[in-house]
Amino acid sequence: MGIEIDFFAQTNESAVEHIDGVSVKTFSELLMIQEELKILVCIKNSKATCEIKTMINQVKRPDIKVYDMASFIETNLFKRAYQPTADGNKYCIICNNNLDTFEPAGIEQELFRNKHIIGGGLRDNCICPLCGCNDRERWLYYVLKNKTNLDAMNGRVLHFAPERSISEMIQANGSIDYYTGDINPGRGMHVTDITCIQYKEEIFDYVICNHVMEHIKDENKAVSEVMRVLKHDGKWIFSIPICTDIDKTYEDNTIISPVDRLREYGQEDHVRLYGKDFKERFEKYGLKIKVFSPEDELTEEEINRYGFIKDDIIMIASKQ
Ligand SMILES: [Zn+2]
Repeated sequence: MGIEIDFFAQTNESAVEHIDGVSVKTFSELLMIQEELKILVCIKNSKATCEIKTMINQVKRPDIKVYDMASFIETNLFKRAYQPTADGNKYCIICNNNLDTFEPAGIEQELFRNKHIIGGGLRDNCICPLCGCNDRERWLYYVLKNKTNLDAMNGRVLHFAPERSISEMIQANGSIDYYTGDINPGRGMHVTDITCIQYKEEIFDYVICNHVMEHIKDENKAVSEVMRVLKHDGKWIFSIPICTDIDKTYEDNTIISPVDRLREYGQEDHVRLYGKDFKERFEKYGLKIKVFSPEDELTEEEINRYGFIKDDIIMIASKQ
């Protein structure tokens, strides 16, 4: 993207000293730099961005501006390098632009090199340089547009860990009473714990939560809470990272340190690695589940053009 990177910084104790020849600092080293720091881009996730912003505020360094990847692109600082191209090979279904390429993104990590985890690791066709959405968001957007009535419905929706593009799409339908929630303050309208949801029984038409369940220790409690707040004909739309190399979901209560979780599950704050049994696993809670994957719905050419992950999975669950 034409961005010059001075160094990388890690929030936990740095395990590597260099990435592609660029030095990696720990966060305390970063804060010891006295000269003015212009921009810090968080390439991990918005939760990490929040934590880093808090940390920066505490040490009173207003010179350090923190962005998450999507809002960084949105700020237009680097966007000018990109123009929609009328005859581009790619098409972003979220911002409705033709473009030449999606940008690569993702986290390079040992587990992702050894095992195939859908949506894990580095992906070539990930970020839309025009709107900042990523490949998983685009597939979710496609499913919501084509497999639900969210566009035209009149009802109530609860959205956990809300993705900006999806929020905008839902809010474009003014007849939806829309609630967003996140366990971390500042990321949704309300702080909401999926294992203890503060709303009444059977009031939502849809509950949407992507890449949340792999963080939740008490999966059973979360599922029963979602089912409790859903109307009898309501739908739960969700996705999880799935490792297609393991048959059975891997979870071990003795794996608790961030380092061990990173090694075993692929991220410091994940509590399990879902395997090929993901559908049966959620069906055991008494749910009826439909699985939506680009490879079942679209041609290879379309998947490539829209920048989807071929075997990406969105589940839509209803009460039996
Ligand atoms: Zn876009």
